[in-house]
Amino acid sequence: MSKKNAESVKVVVRCRPLNQKEIKDGHQRCVDMDVPRGVIQITNPNSRNTEPPKTFTFDAVYDWNSKQIELYDETFRPLVQSVLDGFNGTIFAYGQTGTGKTWTMEGVRTDPELRGVIPNSFEHIFTQISRSQNQQYLVRASYLEIYQEEIRDLLAKDQSKRLELKERPDTGVYVKDLSSFVTKSSKEIEHVMNVGNQNRSIGATNMNEHSSRSHAIFIITVECSEVREDGENHIRVGKLNLVDLAGSERQAKTGATGERLKEATKINLSLSALGNVINALVDGKSTHIPYRDSKLTRLLQDSLGGNAKTVMVANIGPATYNYDETMSTLRYANRAK
Ligand code: ADP
Ligand code: MG
Repeated sequence: MSKKNAESVKVVVRCRPLNQKEIKDGHQRCVDMDVPRGVIQITNPNSRNTEPPKTFTFDAVYDWNSKQIELYDETFRPLVQSVLDGFNGTIFAYGQTGTGKTWTMEGVRTDPELRGVIPNSFEHIFTQISRSQNQQYLVRASYLEIYQEEIRDLLAKDQSKRLELKERPDTGVYVKDLSSFVTKSSKEIEHVMNVGNQNRSIGATNMNEHSSRSHAIFIITVECSEVREDGENHIRVGKLNLVDLAGSERQAKTGATGERLKEATKINLSLSALGNVINALVDGKSTHIPYRDSKLTRLLQDSLGGNAKTVMVANIGPATYNYDETMSTLRYANRAK
């Protein structure tokens, strides 16, 4: 059991490049990466001379030169393929705001070289479907957001409605009344995503702030039916969850109080619940997986563990002033490994 879960959960780290402003302001990197060995070294800028660098090893590490397609081919493609084969899978982007979560998930959608895992998975799925001969596919898309432990359907007409999680003995946990759209091409599913993204920003006075406090989950369900040699119709269903998590930054830094602090506690709750679930899965010794501790983990229960595959991308910034946040992300990712 432990081995199986260890194989089905992958944790990779991606470090973005120093940005123009950081370069202009003369910021240094505190991160070194040995890409072929999956090793990352981080030096505490405040005790550079007295403390050796800390070393972490992951399933893979991607440095500032990494290309979107490398991550897709090495890390995401096998997971998306398993969804096409009828299994569930989840891809998470974790990390401090501004480190590349949305870059990794969406990227620049109009540029084939810069597009992230979501548009690349659209392409992958519909290319495979167009080449299939004896199978019939049905692809459906849903898009939701969890904000302050409340679920909003990003594809619903009425954006003020909040949805509930329900449980049925046969099908498990589901989101009641969540809309889903049948899509027949990359173009169509991209359109669905655009509609959701527009709804996501409606009501948000500051989109960056909003996205740093909410989890966005794009869900693709792939149903495949096939008439086998025995003349019987076989149906398999796989579900792909693509999750752009809320920013992991600790609130001490932002000095939040009142409503903000309450909100921050809820964000941290689902992130720490997620960490605990993944940790318990990887550990393999736990008989109890604490799915029930947050909306996020309950919602994804049937896609975490068991036969499902999970990839967690921990995004970090390279600059010395990000040292504390970067360390905390690496520790989180290390625990999840
Ligand atoms: P987050 O979603 O984690 O808040 P973003 O994905 O919005 O962060 O990234 C912050 C900024 O850094 C954006 O301007 C983005 O284009 C840029 N960026 C992030 N990762 C990379 C990367 N690997 N290569 C180039 N630019 C990147
Ligand atoms: Mg983002």
